[in-house]
Amino acid sequence: MIHVVGGGVAGLASAYRLQKRGREVRVLEATADVGGLAATYETAGDDVETFYHHLSKSEETIVEVAEELGLGDRLEWRIGENAYYVDGVVHPLDTLPQIAAYPHMSLYDKFRLGMLTLEIDVRGGVPKFDTYDDLTDFEDVPIKQFLLDHTTRGVYENFFEPLLDAKFGDRKEDVSAAWLLGRIKFRGERDLLRGEILGYFEGGFAPFVDRLVEAVGREHVTTGARATDVTVADGAVSTITYETAGGERTEETDAVVVAAMPNVLEDLTGYVCEVDFQGAVCAVVTMEEALTDTYWLNVAHDAPFGALIEHTNFVPPERYGGQHLLYVASYVQDAEEDLWRMSDGEIEEAWLSHVGEMFPAFDRSSVIEFRLARNPRAAPVYERGYLDLVVPYDLSEAVANGVYYAGMASEAQYPERSLNGGIVAGFECADRIADRA
Ligand SMILES: Cc1cc2nc3c(=O)[nH]c(=O)nc-3n(C[C@H](O)[C@H](O)[C@H](O)COP(=O)(O)OP(=O)(O)OC[C@H]3O[C@@H](n4cnc5c(N)ncnc54)[C@H](O)[C@@H]3O)c2cc1C
Repeated sequence: MIHVVGGGVAGLASAYRLQKRGREVRVLEATADVGGLAATYETAGDDVETFYHHLSKSEETIVEVAEELGLGDRLEWRIGENAYYVDGVVHPLDTLPQIAAYPHMSLYDKFRLGMLTLEIDVRGGVPKFDTYDDLTDFEDVPIKQFLLDHTTRGVYENFFEPLLDAKFGDRKEDVSAAWLLGRIKFRGERDLLRGEILGYFEGGFAPFVDRLVEAVGREHVTTGARATDVTVADGAVSTITYETAGGERTEETDAVVVAAMPNVLEDLTGYVCEVDFQGAVCAVVTMEEALTDTYWLNVAHDAPFGALIEHTNFVPPERYGGQHLLYVASYVQDAEEDLWRMSDGEIEEAWLSHVGEMFPAFDRSSVIEFRLARNPRAAPVYERGYLDLVVPYDLSEAVANGVYYAGMASEAQYPERSLNGGIVAGFECADRIADRA
């Protein structure tokens, strides 16, 4: 029997692949529901993710799995419009004419930004097309220095710096240029006449998680089961202990896949992971009326949040009983930050009144519901040298034979953590186990 710790997408994917390869599995999920960070809320129509989610065109494994699970025809590729809010004005930034009209960068800045996003190095006046091929060359290069060298100060200050502030706060100087270049490659396809092409399932990601559970078999997934200990005998994993409402159980195990945050791995095995995480605070505001025309609005000023993500400008409001859904989101670098310490009610007041200042036409009485979620480990801080910090899939050398790791600190979750990355990590562990003897 192989035990998988964590019923998020990574753990379920690992169990799915292990079963396909003829192994007996049990998934242990600490909470009452599977899905982990892809958990959902109910709405007047389809369920919606607690934290905003979409797929990028470069992500292929999740698309293949969706097809295997019979969900291929429910995956929809839609345009997700992006804009920048600067000094009271929303600037759409998707199409070439929109970018040309953006007033906060010079034409030359835009040219240099465009060349970087096309991965063309124009330093010295002679275009080079392979400078950015090998990301390891940029692993130790500070992102600010890189952007000043490879674009312009205007691009850094007026385009990237506000985004980095929103994403990494006071850790922004720690981030590597490799992360940025990886993100540029990760984002995938754009339609230069319409915007970024992003994926979403009809009905959201809940049907995907449900199908995965069905494929694994509900009888092989135990919710309300928190793994608390793993023992090792003769250099190999031997037992796993977990707590349920009915008491504590210890079972013999042939292998354990830890598909949860690295602190869980440390608690279970003593393996210490050096990756730092940032937390997220994210609200879903249900409204009678739309706030903007944009899906993803970056906020380049001193707002108490980093982005406004109007989900119903991506997926139509008809899917949600005609109501409009707006994510208001902020990352938190440190548990001492004010935002992390504020009550839900205080955050609601601060955020909605700030939305009102940004958009004078916003009518607070159109807000039907304000639901807030927090997670202390929402994303890794992709600092310089990050790839040296990732947890290997196979921990036979570092811990014991039969211990595997598929959580967010694995290599598949770089340069961006994603559902696809979780599935890849789950598969990587499953294949290593199945390839053994
Ligand atoms: C704000 C935000 C926005 C995001 N946006 C996107 C996006 O647009 N697109 C995208 O693809 N991805 C996005 N992601 C990332 C995506 O949600 C994650 O990469 C993915 O869900 C990680 O899955 P996982 O299974 O590795 O971890 P998790 O989802 O964290 O699952 C781990 C599970 O382990 C369980 N667990 C913990 N401890 C124990 C224990 N001791 N015993 C048993 N179970 C335990 C937890 O309860 C949890 O269910 C976003 C995430 C956040 C937070």
